[in-house]
Parts: sequence; C-alpha cells; structure tokens
Amino acid sequence: MAASIKKAAVIGSGVMGASIAAHLANVGIPSLLLDIVPQALTAEEEAKGLTLAHPAVRNRLATAALAKLPAIKPSPLYDDALASRIMPGNIEDDLHKIAGVDWVIEVVVENLDVKQSLLEKIERHWKPGVIVSSNTSGISINEMAKERGAEFKRHFLGTHFFNPPRYMKLMEIIPGESTDPAIVHKMAAFSERALGKGVVIAKDTPNFIANRIGTYGLLVTLQVMADKGFTVDEVDAVTGPALGRPKSATFRTLDLVGLDTFVHVANNVFEKVDNAEERAVFEPSQLLRDMVARGWIGEKAGAGFYKKI
Ligand code: NAD
Repeated sequence: MAASIKKAAVIGSGVMGASIAAHLANVGIPSLLLDIVPQALTAEEEAKGLTLAHPAVRNRLATAALAKLPAIKPSPLYDDALASRIMPGNIEDDLHKIAGVDWVIEVVVENLDVKQSLLEKIERHWKPGVIVSSNTSGISINEMAKERGAEFKRHFLGTHFFNPPRYMKLMEIIPGESTDPAIVHKMAAFSERALGKGVVIAKDTPNFIANRIGTYGLLVTLQVMADKGFTVDEVDAVTGPALGRPKSATFRTLDLVGLDTFVHVANNVFEKVDNAEERAVFEPSQLLRDMVARGWIGEKAGAGFYKKI
C-alpha cells in the first residue's frame, strides 16, 4: 500500500470533482482532473478552426471547470500557483496516468452503469497500492465494484464529500464488503489530518446516513410546501439564515446540489426500499422532474429555483 497520499486523480470535473481537486490543491496535493471527451465542437471552437481531435477540445470540460475555480473561491488563499497543481485532461487519453498517483477518486454522474463502466476502465490502468474511491451520494459501493477483481475491491471504498467540499466538514467513508480495513483506517486518518474532515464510517445502505436523512427532509419539505401553498421565499426564510444556516436554506441547497443529481439521489432510495412510507417520500415529484426536463437544474445551469441574472 502507498505510504501516504501525495498525488491524486479526480475523475469527473463537475460541481463536486472540480471543488474536490481545488480542496486537494489547497492542502498541497496535486491532482489530475479528468472528464469525458466532448462529442461536438462549440461555435467558438469551430470559428477557431479546431477539430474534435484537438487537445484543447478533448480536454475542454476539465479545463473549463478549472477556469471557473477562482470565481467560486475554494479558499481565501486560492491563487494561480494552486491552480497549477491541477492538471486537466480527459479519460480516453490520460487515464493511464493514474498508475502514478496514490488515490483515484471517481466523481462522475450519479448513475450505476456509468460508474461501473468507469471502474472497469480504471482497473485496466490500476496498480496495486493505489486507493480508488467513489464520491457517490448513495449508490452501493459493493454493487459498483461487483465485476472488479479481488485485489481491486480490497483497495476500493466510498469517500463521500459534501458540497461545498471546502466548507463542509463531514465526510462519510463507506467500506465495501471486501475493502481492506487497513485502507479504511488510512483514508479516515488522511481525511481527518490532511483534508480537515470529520469522518463518519457508514454502512453500504442506500444513500448511506447523511443523504438517507437529509434527502428525506428536503423531499418532505417540498411536499408540505406544495400541500400548504408555501412559497420558495417563505420556506428559505425559515430554513436558512433564521436558523443560523446562511447557506443551507432548502431551495438554495437544491440549486447548489443540482436538481438532476438530487433526483438521482432520491431515486437511489426509491428504487431500493420496499417500505411504502419511505417510497412515497423518496419518489421524486413531478415538479422536480419537470424542472430537470426544462434544464432548470440549479446553479450549474444558471437557473433552478433561483435564476442567475
Ligand atoms: P455534475 O453533474 O456536476 O458532474 C458530473 C460530471 O460527470 C460531469 O463533468 C460530466 O461530464 C461527467 N460525466 C458524465 N457522463 C460521464 C461518463 N459517462 N463517464 C465519465 N464522466 C461522465 O455532478 P456532481 O454534482 O459533481 O456529482 C458527481 C458525483 O458526486 C455524483 O456521484 C454525486 O451524487 C456526488 N455528490 C454530489 C454532490 C452535490 O452536491 N452535487 C454532493 C456530494 C456528492
């Protein structure tokens, strides 16, 4: 097993992946930041005469995420020198580089098939000793890795950061049934000492602990709001600053998380539990589905319950 974690690879450069890479940069850990290869040119790329084979196009998603980081101020200390600790790339051309890191963290869309297929690709380039984890909000760690080899599974676990990773102290660590206890211990100690987190070890049950409770609370709030005719402003006024939680009001939180991701996270429980009362709460409402269908998925799209103007 690697003696300590000095270099990482973050796979997925969306809301969480980019911020996790920034948090690692802030504590002095360089990382690769990889995302998928775009399938179409933007108007700007076309005007520049670029082709889909050009590295600037192939690395576009991770590079764009990196460019946005100073604007979201992952740290008061954030500067270009820290940004230089993050190396953008793409999964097709650069995944082989994970053989040279100590920790790979998977941070792609909350979808079992996508995560399973990414783990299969990761295993092809993986070297024993490299820890691999998932930032899933609640998909089963065992199911995700079920087709992988025994040695890989021994090194695989869940490391669930909360949004925004720089400010949220909680980290859930979720061992799979084959995870080496020494690796669980190592990640917990590293997360607390190097990343400044407060670790809770959770069982591999749908949505683990925090999202089993937290998602329930948010979904019930949405139901009561609809039944009683409360407004978004009213609900946020009483669930945010007035409770001493300036950034945690119900709808502000949903916009920050991303409504598409939130629907996937609610579905994690809805699809797995038999209990009728839980299923009735976790079934994503028509309102949420309609908003996702319209692309009103929150801050990352510029519009959700609130609109960026
Ligand atoms: P996001 O939608 O912002 O980003 C997902 C990234 O995955 C995108 O950059 C996308 O290009 C990439 N991707 C899409 N399809 C892919 C594929 N087939 N292969 C590889 N990459 C692909 O999502 P996010 O909010 O950053 O969430 C990422 C993970 O973190 C999810 O598992 C989510 O449940 C978890 N998470 C999210 C939050 C949150 O508040 N948003 C909090 C904790 C955990």
